[in-house]
Amino acid sequence: MVAGSGLFGLTVAERCAADLGLRVLVLDRRDHIGGNAYSEDEPETGIEIHRYGAHLFHTSNERVWEYVNRFTSFTGYRHHVYSRYRDRIYPMPINLGTVCEYFGRAFTPDEARALIAEQAAEVTDPANLEEKAISLIGRPLYEAFIRGYTAKQWQTDPRDLPPEIITRLPVRYTFDNRYFNDTYEGLPVDGYTAWLERMADHPNIEVRLNTDFADLRDDAVGNVPVVYTGPLDAYFGHAEGELGWRTLDFEMEIADTGDFQGTPVMNYADQDVPYTRIHEFRHFHPERRDRYPSDRTVIMREFSRFAERGDEPYYPINTPGDREKLRAYRKLAAAEEGVLFGGRLGTYQYLDMHMAIASALSMVDNRLRPHFAEGSRLISGGVDE
Ligand code: FAD
Ligand code: UDP
Repeated sequence: MVAGSGLFGLTVAERCAADLGLRVLVLDRRDHIGGNAYSEDEPETGIEIHRYGAHLFHTSNERVWEYVNRFTSFTGYRHHVYSRYRDRIYPMPINLGTVCEYFGRAFTPDEARALIAEQAAEVTDPANLEEKAISLIGRPLYEAFIRGYTAKQWQTDPRDLPPEIITRLPVRYTFDNRYFNDTYEGLPVDGYTAWLERMADHPNIEVRLNTDFADLRDDAVGNVPVVYTGPLDAYFGHAEGELGWRTLDFEMEIADTGDFQGTPVMNYADQDVPYTRIHEFRHFHPERRDRYPSDRTVIMREFSRFAERGDEPYYPINTPGDREKLRAYRKLAAAEEGVLFGGRLGTYQYLDMHMAIASALSMVDNRLRPHFAEGSRLISGGVDE
């Protein structure tokens, strides 16, 4: 039994069915498969929208790339982001174009490096996000593009956030403004849902939607091997307290124009604009130009806040208190015979899609195959497969 039909659960189910020859029951409490990668056509315009926030596929993992290509081909989409600050627009992540535009003159790469090095020198031993950012890009660029955006996204003073959050964002001294550095990138040609449905389309797989694991748990645990991809704290009845998550609110609008912003994602760096970014979905698929209407477009404003119970958990907050609770839950999970914990919610980790798939393939190799082939015990060796 696989609880949760996100990319982690679907990968485990598909491999168990197609490779190990097992019958698999996949549950999801939502009314659709695919977890947060799910997408659907907005009915009025036919434009594919990502209900749980824009999803861009990218990976440098050969095995994952080969695996996903069994279910879908990918477009040549390359992600680019722009940021709006005080009524002007700059390329992101910060690159030579951003530096020239912000300081209002032409810089060579060497000149830009020298300028930023001088501005970054005020911080030598960065201990929080603000200091880390200043040490990478200097104070002026930090105050323009990072401070307001980060405060909105995390509702926390950047001086109270860990430095690692910002290291994900590259800084380049070239005009290359591609968002991701990975070898492979693209969007599923027929949309995410067609891809996800093909993964579940196997005679050995039964999918039951609108079904909460809690309702079948007593029948399942101890009787059939279980892979659980729901929230780790919920599995244990929040016995060690609640793990903290950030959630997002999305406000969708159909605008009466064929092009609202000229690009898929516009970040809003000013702190007095309440949303962090606006997505415009038609731009993810320029190859569908003839199929999409020329006078309407779908946009989605994204707002960020702390999740309360009942909200969708999106990003683990990971305070020191959360990490202590996580250690306690990992101990409980390791003692739960016959149940493996995986995926974003089951391990309390932010995982990109390719990471969720890679981690599910490892779980099949390292835990499930040995269990079914040799009868080895089915137990989490920790929850970070
Ligand atoms: P999920 O997709 O969350 O699936 C878990 C499933 O379990 C859900 O369907 C849920 O309904 C179900 N479930 C939970 N509890 C129960 C229960 N008790 N009983 C039954 N079912 C249950 N990745 C990228 O690579 N690129 C991106 O651009 C990107 N953008 C993202 C944007 C946002 C806003 C978010 C939140 C994530 C983004 N991701 C992106 C990450 C991507 O969504 C994850 O990698 C992927 O969702 C991981 O799959 P999963 O199976 O672990 O979790
Ligand atoms: N960030 C920022 N300004 C931007 C984009 C990102 O300050 O225009 C910071 C912000 O703190 C964010 C982090 O960089 O949390 C990582 O950005 P990313 O785009 O990876 O965030 P995600 O898409 O995962 O929300």
